[in-house]
Parts: sequence; structure tokens; C-alpha cells
Amino acid sequence: MTQQAPTPVAALRRIAFLLERAREDTYKIKAFRSAAAAILPLAEDELAAKTAEGTLTDLPGVGASSAKVIADSVAGRVPERLAKLEEQYAGPLAPGGRELRKALRGDLHSHSDWSDGGSPIEEMAFTAIELGHDYLVLTDHSPRLTIAHGLSAERLGRQLLVVDAVNEHLAGSGFRMLKGIEVDILTDGALDQSEEMLAQLDLRVASVHSKLAMDAEQMTRRMIAAVENPFTNVLGHCTGRLVTGSRGTRPGSRFDARKVFEACLANDVAVEINSRPERRDPPTALLELARDLGCLFSIDSDAHAPGQLDMLDYGCERAEAAGIEPERIVNTWSSERLVAWANG
Ligand SMILES: [Zn+2]
Ligand SMILES: [Zn+2]
Repeated sequence: MTQQAPTPVAALRRIAFLLERAREDTYKIKAFRSAAAAILPLAEDELAAKTAEGTLTDLPGVGASSAKVIADSVAGRVPERLAKLEEQYAGPLAPGGRELRKALRGDLHSHSDWSDGGSPIEEMAFTAIELGHDYLVLTDHSPRLTIAHGLSAERLGRQLLVVDAVNEHLAGSGFRMLKGIEVDILTDGALDQSEEMLAQLDLRVASVHSKLAMDAEQMTRRMIAAVENPFTNVLGHCTGRLVTGSRGTRPGSRFDARKVFEACLANDVAVEINSRPERRDPPTALLELARDLGCLFSIDSDAHAPGQLDMLDYGCERAEAAGIEPERIVNTWSSERLVAWANG
């Protein structure tokens, strides 16, 4: 079987994508993404000349393995590295939840390099389009999360202009980048962004990132206050637990889940099913409790890199196993319905 060789930029991007969704080492992945960015402005003949001269690695950001990928695709071959990765990593990330995955029209939780993500906004948008999404909500962190370069009101204001520009560029594609935030739930339950800014967004995910080990009663009050805030639309990774991965593991916060989910139901807030394998949040018992109480859900990638947008597969598998109907999952809805719901 002959396969058409991708362009050099496409090959490098696809390699990075496959490595990201497989949760490979970020340093290695960065190398392919920087190489793609380095050769993007070059004309085809310029790139061919550099390949022939063997001077590709003189370009800042292009290392030996990227140069090999570029040389292969300039020569019209499917790069060996890419072919291997396709064999090893392509295809669904989880065997279950395939029907539900097809029903998802977008993703409500993603990060760019404006906070602690690894890629620019437009790269996240392009990959979301490639995955077939109708929309992606950009939800970078809020100011108090300094460790993740949380956005001040002023930076968020500028980011919104960039999102407008990206959308203008993508007009006619059928895809829309939606304006959002992953707003930190402060210890007293307040949201870490001005109401003026929150009001300008299409959707807001509220999550706890600090003092996860606080007393259960206090944590319950804190989370309910956040859920009752009229700006909150989605309760992000509710327990904060980590079950695997390079950041190690930690137990989830303790709180009265029934009370918190009842507040979600009463305030029309969706409970996030966070798809990241490190999180698998909420744990199954809580997921089933929220299901039985009649809560809405959103299945989110919480992607910090383009390839991680594909991690929705994991969340879909869990939602399907829990028997959650697609109609209750807000990202099976159209962007119009979603934004109307989030601002109703
Ligand atoms: Zn978070
Ligand atoms: Zn996040």
C-alpha cells in the first residue's frame, strides 16, 4: 500500500500530536513542535535546498531527529519515525465510549501557553478542528494560580482579543473558539476573577487548586459557595485527586459530595468528568452519585497540549460505563445551545 507523504510541517505536527496523546516526555515533543514552527515560514524550494545541503539543523529549533523527518518528507517518503508512531499510537485511546465520543461536539476545558499549556491558542484551535470539534472553550487559569501563570484581568482582556482574531481567521470553518476560564475557587468559595471579566466570557469552569486537604465541612461550604455563584457553569475536577503520572499521586479532597452535587443540580452547574488519566475525576462512586441525583455533566480533556485534546476518549469510556445519557452531557450540545445555557 502506498501512502501519500505528508508535508514536513504536517509530519512534525502529527508526530507531536501522537506523542502528546500518549503522554510522552514533553521535552521531546517540544522539539518537534519548535521544528515545525521554524520551517513554517520557509518556501518549499528553500526547504528543499537546505535539505540537499544538509544544513537543516542550522535552523534554530531544528534538531537531528526533526531534520530526518523533514528530509524524508521533502523526498516524498512517509517519515520512518511517523510511520512507527502511527503503528504504535494511532487509533482510539480507550476501547469503550466510542458512540459517545462521536456525539461530543466540543470540549469545555483547555489551556494554552498563556497560562501553563505548551502551545499557542491557534495551534489548539487547529488541532480541535482536526479532531472534528465544532468548538473549544479556552480556559486558562486565573490570577492567584501564579505557579500556572494565571491571567490577570488585564491579560485575560487581551487574550479575548486574540480569540476574536483567531475566530475571524477561521470564519467559514464551522468551528468556533469559545471564551472561557478555569477560575480558581478561593478558600472562602469566591471566584478568582472580577465579575466584569467573568461576564465577558462564554463559559466558566470553576475548580479548586489550593488547600485541597482542608477540613471536609469547610471544603463543602467552599465548593457550594462556588457552585452557587451565578457565573459558574462547570465544576472542574471536583476531588483534585491524582492517581498516576509524573506529578505523583494524592488523595482527593474530602467533602459532602451529595450536598455539593445537589447544589450543582439546583444551580444548573455541570459536573466535569475530567478525562486526564492522571485525574480520572470524579471517582466512580461520586460519578454514579451525581448521575443518580440527575446532574448535568461535561466530558473535558483539560488539555495542556494539542494532542491531549484527544483524551476525551477516556472520559467517554467512563461516562458510558456509568450509563450517563448523552443528552445530559452539555458538550453533546451545539455551541449556540451551550452558550445560551451558560449565560441563561
Ligand atoms: Zn485545574
Ligand atoms: Zn485545567
